[in-house]
Amino acid sequence: MNNALNWIDDELKSLKDAGLYNRIRTISSAQGAWLIVDGKKALNFCSNNYLGLANHPKLVQAAKEAVDKYGIGPAAVRTIAGTMDLHNELEKRFAEFKGVEAAITFQSGFNANIATIPALVGKEDVIFSDELNHASIIDGCRLSGATIIRYNHCDVKDLERVLLENRHLYRRAMVITDGVFSMDGDIAPLNDIYEVSKKYETILMVDDAHGEGVLGRSGRGIVDHYRLHGKVDIEVGTLSKAFGVVGGVVAGNAKIIEWLRQRGRPFLFSSAMTVPDVAACLAGLEILQNSTELVDQLWKNTRFFKEEMKNAGFDIGQSVTPITPIMLGEARLAQEFSALLFENNVFAMAIGFPTVPRGKARIRVMLSAAHQKTDLEKGLEVFIKVGKKLAVI
Ligand SMILES: *Cc1c(COP(=O)(O)O)cnc(C)c1O
Repeated sequence: MNNALNWIDDELKSLKDAGLYNRIRTISSAQGAWLIVDGKKALNFCSNNYLGLANHPKLVQAAKEAVDKYGIGPAAVRTIAGTMDLHNELEKRFAEFKGVEAAITFQSGFNANIATIPALVGKEDVIFSDELNHASIIDGCRLSGATIIRYNHCDVKDLERVLLENRHLYRRAMVITDGVFSMDGDIAPLNDIYEVSKKYETILMVDDAHGEGVLGRSGRGIVDHYRLHGKVDIEVGTLSKAFGVVGGVVAGNAKIIEWLRQRGRPFLFSSAMTVPDVAACLAGLEILQNSTELVDQLWKNTRFFKEEMKNAGFDIGQSVTPITPIMLGEARLAQEFSALLFENNVFAMAIGFPTVPRGKARIRVMLSAAHQKTDLEKGLEVFIKVGKKLAVI
């Protein structure tokens, strides 16, 4: 064994000692309200499967039919080996759904950010980034080589301050924010962000990974929620959360999308989404375009669960989305809470530092249209039982 790798043992041990080592549970069932987790049936409060599409019969059927016709893989990058009509169809339909000129797909939301940011700004430029933006935005910003200036979370006054002080020192400027912040479930004040971005001549980009399929009319996302059509330059989205599949997408004006087809590195140097992914996403889009039923159910479940948790005396933070943090404070308490939930067949993860600040550890419940009312009632019953046992309520 190569001694040059010994440091990994030390690092892994210190992660374990600090309680920061990821122990990944194994799921041996399809996604849905209930899962088989580590061999045990458990109520699922962990997935980003907001609309229950991850195992929806229409998506499954569409994937099967596409595999019969096209096989599995695209077999090369699209610029070299040509693109399948399926991918073009998904991009066209997604752009229609979002009410923008064009869209381009990537292998994941992470890749969509890595592709987009460095294609639009470089060394002579500046990025203004919300301090709580997602890791893939941070990495995309770093890859671009632009100067990165963070502003206080969702604080438009602070954004304006840093724009005023710094914008004129650089060539191009970009303002980037998450749409929905995944740990607290709060949403960016995009209408106000748009106003200041416009004033200082910046490119405006929003990453709507947790808003796609959740916010706006029939899940059209945060831009639709604020009615900012045509005003936000770039909407990054994921097909891995509410869409229940895997993939990333960028929607915006045709010029930007054309540029990404020429200069987005994960587009040029990595193969496309697979056939069943694309076909399933097309079926998911069709469901959303034809009916608001799943989105309505998601919000109905969200209102019910949150109301009951509040009535039971839990602190559920400031979320305005289906992301529901149950604020517990200390990381050890959150871990113990999660373990007791799992003993009672409820799967909900504890989240602590460094994902959230010290002293703000929590359990995060992800609600879904896949939950029946009886599932939520069962979840509430267990939360109340564990909350009393640990003297949280
Ligand atoms: C989940 C997430 C991503 C990554 O999406 P994937 O499709 O899973 O790669 C990117 N940005 C934000 C804000 C996210 O929450």
